[in-house]
Parts: sequence; structure tokens; C-alpha cells
Amino acid sequence: MSVKLKMVLSGVLILISAAVIVFSLFANGVIRVEKPEPPYEPRYLNPETLGSARALTGRVGVVSIFASDPGSQWDMEDKGDKERIDNILTALNTACTYLKENASRYGVEVDIDYAKNTESPLFITGDFKNVVNDLNGGRWERIDLADFIKGNCDMNDKYDSVVYLFFTDDYKDKFDQDDYVRVWSFADYVYDKALTYPYEMCFLPYGLYESGISASVIAHEMMHCFGAPDLYQEDSFGINYGTSNISIEYVEENIPNEIMLIQHELGTEKSYSDRITNEISDITAYYIGWLPALDLVDELKMTHSQHDLKKDP
Ligand SMILES: [Zn+2]
Repeated sequence: MSVKLKMVLSGVLILISAAVIVFSLFANGVIRVEKPEPPYEPRYLNPETLGSARALTGRVGVVSIFASDPGSQWDMEDKGDKERIDNILTALNTACTYLKENASRYGVEVDIDYAKNTESPLFITGDFKNVVNDLNGGRWERIDLADFIKGNCDMNDKYDSVVYLFFTDDYKDKFDQDDYVRVWSFADYVYDKALTYPYEMCFLPYGLYESGISASVIAHEMMHCFGAPDLYQEDSFGINYGTSNISIEYVEENIPNEIMLIQHELGTEKSYSDRITNEISDITAYYIGWLPALDLVDELKMTHSQHDLKKDP
């Protein structure tokens, strides 16, 4: 073999090994190509596009609707139902007290009005023809819920902000075999977008947790209505928070007990109706209107909060 050929062959060998090394660095995540920046441009605040829950400040009303539907019925005379309702009111009290205490940690005044017993004007019962707590129900089907609120318990004019909570009794696995119904806790909220109806709602079925109802989940879903994004997933619903792998990794590593990341006790997977073990970090505080600005949000390439948009076009 000529010297020239040897040189060419070793050159090729070096190139191939370099390519293999570079490829394995990418494959193992040692070298990372940053995703393109999420669309961020200054936007303008229009109070009409923030829904019924704007910021978690001032006077806040929480309307609890105990809903009967084709999957579950509340019977006010039934001993078991009475206990479940008591447990829900305990969890609601836990969630609202938690939000108030955290607000004062940030020096924010918030007065939350919520049902403390079944005699409260904020304790409402209603009958519905569709399954209320169905994640697959879709917004258009929730128009009947909005119609109900409008006709029975619209409190939007009484408070600075209002959240409407729908509590259903235990569906007792009624829909397990049915692909079209997915019973889950979730919120129908808006972020800088007009709603087809002026009500932000949370859906909270009984029986998903060992504790029956989770105070942490109630607080989590309520905070969505005031502008908090989920911190565990990419912004896949087009809500435009700009959460991405960058923000998710940051939160998982630095604030693993964030309430918008997890809603169970860190390390035990347990949830409770009488206490919340998760924390509200600066990120969530910023999104619900407790912090006027947060540099971290720019570092994480997230979209600014609905409370931090420019006020005049
Ligand atoms: Zn969520």
C-alpha cells in the first residue's frame, strides 16, 4: 500500500470516527440544538379578553356548583353524599386559605369569598343533561353550563374576579369502558383571548384521589383561571404561554414541588383535602398577578403574563 493511500485511508477513518462521536453526543443529549424561540412579540392588554378571573387580587368570588348529571347525582338527604360535600367544603376552605396566605407572602391583598357551608349564597345545586366533568366534552358542549350560570348564579358584577367550580359526585367508574367520556379535573380558562361566554370554570369530580377530593388540585385549577400555565408540559393547546422543554427542565430541576408542576405530596404521591404540601413559586406568582415582572420568564423563553402585557396599543 502506498504512503499516499495509507494517508487517505487514515483520513477517512478519522472523519468516520469524528462523525460517530458527534452523532453520539447529540443522541445522548450532550450537545443540544435549542428549539427556535417561541413566538414572542409585545402584545396589548384588553380587559375584555381575560375572562371572569383576571388577577388573584382584590375581591374574588368562588361559586361552587354541585352538579347532578347522567353519571352522578347529589342527594342532600344521603349520609354518604353529606360526608362527601363536607369533604369538598373542607378542601375548598383549604385551597382558598392557601391562596390567601401565599398572596400575603407576596404582599398582595386578596379577599376570597367562597361557600363555607350549604347555606351560603355561593353554594349552588343544578341538574345538567350532559356529563359535566368530561374532559372530552369540548367547549361547545359547555355552553349549557354557561347558560346555567347566566340564569342562576352569575356573580361577575359582584366581584373583581369570579371562578365557577363544578363539583360532581363520584362517577364510580361508570364511564371506564366508554371511550367518549373522560372524567378528569381540569379548567376551562382564557389567556388573553376572548371567551365565547364570560365565565371561567373548573371541573372537579369526586373520587379521583384517595382523599376523595384534593385541595391542591382545586387551588391548581383555580390558578389556571387567573393566568397560571401548566409547568409540566409544552404549550400544546395554543394558549400561547410558550412553555417548552427549556422551562419544563428548569422547573423539574429547581422547583420540583411547584403546584403547577405536581399536585401530590412530593415523594409520597398522596393528596389531601385538609392540607396542601406544594408550593407557589415566583413563576406562578408572576402569572397570577402577584409579581409585576420576572426576568426568569425571558430566560425560559416563556410568553409574558396576561397582567404584564402593554396596557395601551
Ligand atoms: Zn393544570
